[in-house]
Amino acid sequence: MEAIISSNLVGGGVMSEKIYSKVYQPGEDIVRIGDRGRNAYFIERGKTEVTLPEDGGKEVLATMGPGEIFGEMSMIDDAPRSATVTALEETEVIVIEQSRYIQPLESANPMMNLILRVVLSRFRDARRQMAAGGNYTPDEDESIEEIRALAFDLIQFEREMREGLEKNEFEMHYQPIFDLDTGTVAGIEALMRWRKGDSFVSPGEFIPLAEETGMIVELGRFALETGLRDHHKFLKILGGSPFMSVNVSGLQILELDEIGRIAGIIEKGGIEPQLIKLEITETMMVENFAHATEALKQLKDLGVMIAIDDFGTGYSSLSYLHQLPLDTLKIDRAFVIEMDKSEKGKQVVDSIVLLALALDMSIVAEGIEAKEQVGTLKDMGCHYGQGFYMSRPLPYDDCVKLLETGPSW
Ligand code: C2E
Ligand code: CA
Ligand code: CA
Repeated sequence: MEAIISSNLVGGGVMSEKIYSKVYQPGEDIVRIGDRGRNAYFIERGKTEVTLPEDGGKEVLATMGPGEIFGEMSMIDDAPRSATVTALEETEVIVIEQSRYIQPLESANPMMNLILRVVLSRFRDARRQMAAGGNYTPDEDESIEEIRALAFDLIQFEREMREGLEKNEFEMHYQPIFDLDTGTVAGIEALMRWRKGDSFVSPGEFIPLAEETGMIVELGRFALETGLRDHHKFLKILGGSPFMSVNVSGLQILELDEIGRIAGIIEKGGIEPQLIKLEITETMMVENFAHATEALKQLKDLGVMIAIDDFGTGYSSLSYLHQLPLDTLKIDRAFVIEMDKSEKGKQVVDSIVLLALALDMSIVAEGIEAKEQVGTLKDMGCHYGQGFYMSRPLPYDDCVKLLETGPSW
């Protein structure tokens, strides 16, 4: 018996994903060791046991009951199951198919919605931990009450973000990117800020939460709209063809439909697409290469430039870097810092530059804080630089002033 709670969750039917409930009879296996992990399961009622085969018999690892979740590792990969889970009595589970996107879950019933958000945020944590080379151990003790509490926190935060967006608390700040040869402004990166009273919540804090709650899609549209609107003024001041760089979260374009909306914003924005650069982190490209290839191709077809952001932090391999339609590589700040510290650090940056040049990409070094770094990077062949040494990210008015007077560094 399968009751579909919500099917075809992703609009447009690009990925048909389902959440449904299913009843297992006593003795029936829900997952078997060695199966490919494709679903996570939330136990509605009943009882299950987790076992490993042992000398013709089996070793019981755990028993699980209502409110518990298993198989969440399938949210990360579809590696074979490491144990068998069997129903001990009539057991109803909510099956969550490998879901790649949180926003469509809005349509699920409210309690499931809460729980799934937590499952998905755990999965994102796990992904991050794994990307950082760590191991993920699901927290077995997390009770349904704790899960609910966590879920409510997230929802509360989402509400605040949504209200903040309505109350115009979000704004874009702008950091010029310089041509290292000529010292002129080659482009500008738009960076989001959340104004709370007199202070700003840093994007490092709210972007990850915006990604967990799906709010990143709306915030991302806001960033692009605002960046393009303000770029008219920057173009007027600077002349020539400086680009506007806008950060795009990988989660924004997990649903290909969103690319159509991005196209609409670009058309309405009235800035020539070839002056628009979308910065997408390396992690996103690595996490789902097949999807990234398709999404980037569609973005590229809009005529925009694409930059791989935070390069060097996402363990991408050379074998597929060249398969993506990338125009620019942004060397992560961490490498620029290391460059000063040791000869090795310098060699690393040197090889990144050579790699980008070999792939015909332009190169931006991030996080330049000292004059010597400019020289070193320039000698290596790095084209552009960005950092506090030249200019911090500035509110619109201050950026206009800086561009009008001409930056001095
Ligand atoms: P990012 O895209 O790598 O942006 C560069 C970050 O480095 C910015 O931090 C910038 O202020 C900071 N930075 C620039 N030069 C220097 C320097 O010389 N020294 C130091 N210490 N830092 C420097 P910020 O603005 O706090 O943004 C943090 C991250 O949040 C961004 O990293 C980006 O991943 C994300 N973010 C910001 N705005 C948006 C947005 O509109 N959409 C999305 N999806 N992500 C955004
Ligand atoms: Ca960026
Ligand atoms: Ca970056």
